[in-house]
Amino acid sequence: MRAVKLVSPGKMELQEVERPVPGPDEVLVRIAGAGLCHSDLHVLHMGEEWPFFGGTVGHEGSGRVESWGADVDGFAEGDAVLVSVVWACGHCRACVEGRDNACEVNGSRHMFPTTPGLGPDGAMADYMVTKARYLDRIGDLDPVAAAPLADAGVTPMHAINSARSRLTPGSTAVVIAVGGLGHMGLQILKATTGARIIAVDNDESKLAIAREHGADLVLKSDADTAQRILDETNGYGADVVFDFVGVQPTVDLATKVVSPEGALRFVGLGGGTFTFGADSNTAVLPWGVNVQRSYGGTRADQLEVIALAQQGKIAVETVTYPLADFQRAFDDLEAGKVPGRAILVP
Ligand code: NAD
Ligand code: ZN
Repeated sequence: MRAVKLVSPGKMELQEVERPVPGPDEVLVRIAGAGLCHSDLHVLHMGEEWPFFGGTVGHEGSGRVESWGADVDGFAEGDAVLVSVVWACGHCRACVEGRDNACEVNGSRHMFPTTPGLGPDGAMADYMVTKARYLDRIGDLDPVAAAPLADAGVTPMHAINSARSRLTPGSTAVVIAVGGLGHMGLQILKATTGARIIAVDNDESKLAIAREHGADLVLKSDADTAQRILDETNGYGADVVFDFVGVQPTVDLATKVVSPEGALRFVGLGGGTFTFGADSNTAVLPWGVNVQRSYGGTRADQLEVIALAQQGKIAVETVTYPLADFQRAFDDLEAGKVPGRAILVP
């Protein structure tokens, strides 16, 4: 079978490899779609320190069950499934408390839990194996378009769920960046909260997507964006700000527009630095702001995302590429030319 391998810094290759055989507790999934995440680009640009060269890329995978090991039951051939991003142990305190995206056993203080495509072989291939317990059924959802739900859906869902108490009707939410994650975050906010949504991006074509998906106000990011948001909120600020970029200008924007007791959710991995003033003369943050460096999501978040998609309340805007055209897909993502999510189709 074919698999996209990250072979060395900046270099991916389509290789012919052995089709994996599922172990006793594993399922072999025939991949229907594999989403491209901006995190894959971050990894591609890492140096020799990246520990997983040689692995198959792709942490957003969905497809159909092909075969399974002796200890697996409950699946039928052809079942449509979504592969979880978080391969947690299921037994540690974090997992048992429902915080499996912070698993103590398969992750560590500074390393997220085991993730397919960022360690174990991922979804950019004809087939992948996973433990059966990392699969969720997606029923009649199109298994190609469902792939990004695993991250571009689940990660914003987690950030939103953690700030849900501030997303009451009458509140204002700011979504910074309407890319893969942002366009799903916007739809989840629209479908599950009464918040007024302000979408910000520096690319007009992404703002058009925000308009289509029901943003109440869209703003091209420039020097006036912070003031515009403050003006829209009587100078008080936005209740929740989601930063799906994380570069210094967006971290600063988020910090400048959040309201007292508001929530900042930093999701993007752009390398920006967050600071707050500790005394009232230098304070950049209003009192009471809750800040989270949000990672992925839980299995419960994933079930919610699948349910919303099945109800037709959220949908991934997709651009598909044949698996063999992976390089073109990554180049388009890097150039900012992908509306919604790019998906490789084997
Ligand atoms: P994407 O490439 O699909 O979208 C990025 C969007 O950001 C585009 O719409 C682009 O126009 C916009 N943008 C870029 N710079 C901007 C700026 N200065 N101001 C406003 N908008 C700007 O990326 P994605 O796949 O949605 O990922 C977004 C970020 O989230 C990446 O850094 C990715 O690594 C990270 N990520 C984090 C997690 C997590 O668990 N924390 C999970 C997945 C992805
Ligand atoms: Zn990702």
